Amino acid sequence: MTRTPLIAANWKMNPAPPEAFNPDSAYRPQSGIETIVFPTFLDVRACLEAGLPTGAQYGHPDSTGAHTGDVSMTMIKKTGCQFVLCGHSERRRDHGEKDSDVVAQAESALRNGLHPVICVGETAAERKTKRHKQVVERQVRVLPLREMVTIAYEPVWAIGTGVTPTPEQAQDMHAFIRSLIPEARRETTRILYGGSLTAENAAEFFEQPDIDGGLVGGASLKPDVFRAIVLAAVQTKS
Ligand code: PEP
Repeated sequence: MTRTPLIAANWKMNPAPPEAFNPDSAYRPQSGIETIVFPTFLDVRACLEAGLPTGAQYGHPDSTGAHTGDVSMTMIKKTGCQFVLCGHSERRRDHGEKDSDVVAQAESALRNGLHPVICVGETAAERKTKRHKQVVERQVRVLPLREMVTIAYEPVWAIGTGVTPTPEQAQDMHAFIRSLIPEARRETTRILYGGSLTAENAAEFFEQPDIDGGLVGGASLKPDVFRAIVLAAVQTKS
């Protein structure tokens, strides 16, 4: 079973890199690989208008209502996005999102015809005390693992730190996550690795059989680095 590799750029609370809008930018659709950009809400429309495959970094599960500062999955879909991030660890940390909130977001995304990219991953303390699989299993087991779902394994201690698991440790967790996916979708569901991916280390992660691409934070703001990461995925997965 072949899964199309996917490289997603999480621009977090940063402006879209101006080069992303160039006709030959690495963020544009290309053959053999899927790319997505996750800009701030303010840049979503410009990215869509430029023809970039675009997702939102968060969506509220309710369609409308008294939720100041929030944007709903319904609105995100209506704007033309196809993707939405759910449960990024920075949202779990900054906004107190719990597993149940992430499930509600993912279910709302699916109801609205969006593809959720759902983030899971353990903290440094949880890995140190060898509870990493237990924690990730808890996070994955509650998810609506339907056809349109992509999972991103992002160890919290690897995000923005320059520290990563070894590719073998990441593969071990990816294979474990895959074993938790219902059999009918086990071989077709994409599982991305995220956490301090760079142009230098990307290929060795993508060489692992259960790593289907990457969710890239800091490095995705540098167009040349993002291009190199996309190229690493094309070369290792073709
Ligand atoms: C992320 O924010 O999803 C991420 C993986 O960040 P970074 O690549 O900067 O570690």
